[in-house]
Amino acid sequence: MPHTTGLFLFNTDLRLHDNEALIAAAAQVDQLICIYCAQTTQASSTLLAPSPLSPHRQLFLAQALSNLQASLKNLGQHLLISTQTPLEIISQLITVHNIDHIYSSAHPGYYEQKSWQTLAQRYPFINFHCFDTNTLFQTAQLPFSIKQIPQSFSKFRKQVEPLTINPPLAAPKQLPPSPVSGSTWKNLPYSLVQTPLFEGGEEQALAHLEGYFSTRLASNYKLTRNGLDGMDYSTKFSPWLANGNLSARQVIGHLKRYEQEKGANDSTYWIYFELLWREYYQWFGHCYGKKLFNVSGIKTVKPKTSFYAERFQKWCSGNTPYPIVNACMKQLNSTGYMSNRGRQLVASCFVHELGLDWRYGAAYMEQHLVDYDVASNWGNWQYLAGVGADPRGHRRFDLNKQTLTYDPNEVFIKRFAGHEFDSQLDSVDAADWPISR
Ligand SMILES: Cc1cc2nc3c(=O)[nH]c(=O)nc-3n(C[C@H](O)[C@H](O)[C@H](O)COP(=O)(O)OP(=O)(O)OC[C@H]3O[C@@H](n4cnc5c(N)ncnc54)[C@H](O)[C@@H]3O)c2cc1C
Repeated sequence: MPHTTGLFLFNTDLRLHDNEALIAAAAQVDQLICIYCAQTTQASSTLLAPSPLSPHRQLFLAQALSNLQASLKNLGQHLLISTQTPLEIISQLITVHNIDHIYSSAHPGYYEQKSWQTLAQRYPFINFHCFDTNTLFQTAQLPFSIKQIPQSFSKFRKQVEPLTINPPLAAPKQLPPSPVSGSTWKNLPYSLVQTPLFEGGEEQALAHLEGYFSTRLASNYKLTRNGLDGMDYSTKFSPWLANGNLSARQVIGHLKRYEQEKGANDSTYWIYFELLWREYYQWFGHCYGKKLFNVSGIKTVKPKTSFYAERFQKWCSGNTPYPIVNACMKQLNSTGYMSNRGRQLVASCFVHELGLDWRYGAAYMEQHLVDYDVASNWGNWQYLAGVGADPRGHRRFDLNKQTLTYDPNEVFIKRFAGHEFDSQLDSVDAADWPISR
């Protein structure tokens, strides 16, 4: 009997649990090549030259891959890690191995989808299988076609709330062996960070999930979620969700159990509510594709913005006339994470106070956030820049008022030296300012 050979392309689903694509591959083929294409630069918007991912992002990803490598090894498999694009490496593997099936999880990113479609077109004799492992719902469950996603989150929520969320799937107990030997793991150019806030990997994700719901934090989430600093005011599921070390359905599974055992309230509902925001942006990404990176977003009118190199660099380094913004940016630069409230404030400052083109701010966060997710990041930036899914147009935050509400004693600002900034925002004419300074 001839062997059936499959190829599994991991992307933002770096886990064994609740991974329908992997379970399908395990059931259908005799040999399986598991592969991950490691992206080392930030590149969603072609507007900007690709910059290296921040050390925090690189480290989290390297840990997630290392953990996945170990889990696959326990099942007699291993991960082939490549720094080539999926198109390049998969084309090479196809010429050497008789590949019958290729499996992957659906990705909300335009470029990732494009490369999947190109592969499918180039190799019509191979069966391509794509699964919705990254979302709470599956395409077939949605009460609208993806191209007709509701124009606002509220309308989306009303339509999807009655849908059933399937329970998460168990990890496969066995995987077919790989016909490929060795791994390019050692070639990965990952550097290390001292005392990272989060450790990447499915094992760490599950430990954090268990740990969070073993406390009573979820019962107060709605009251604390707007905090700026610390581990407990919000769930901190995002780094693992973004890299797929954890699925949104696993979080919902634990949340439901928590509600049964410790009681449901507004706060426990609000965790689900925020996961629906995530869900909205995932489908939003699928719907709008390349428009996610357009200056006019999903609207037809371009916002009136410009690019002031000096202001941009000052925002990035936390050297603006706004102490709360400076503290948030320094927090991001030193940890790879920023609170949701902080992200809203720095984005509002970027667009409204500094008059900068929102795409540069989104690209900077893409480079630095350990929880970077193409749909949530670019979707939220669009929303705040007034070119996204916001019926109200745009959101401008009063930074003084926000400071009084969320950091009244300036504990956070002082911790991250938010008061240290140049007295003058624009030191020279924008046209004369050297970018390399
Ligand atoms: C400008 C800007 C950029 C952002 N970029 C990203 C990004 O790249 N990746 C990312 O995961 N989130 C992004 N967010 C959303 C949000 O800030 C983070 O998900 C949240 O701060 C992560 O911390 P947490 O897990 O403790 O969140 P919690 O408050 O505990 O929320 C629970 C989960 O709900 C989801 N969630 C919460 N708020 C949002 C939201 N506004 N949009 C989408 N999902 C949400 C996340 O998956 C989060 O883990 C961005 C928000 C803004 C305003």
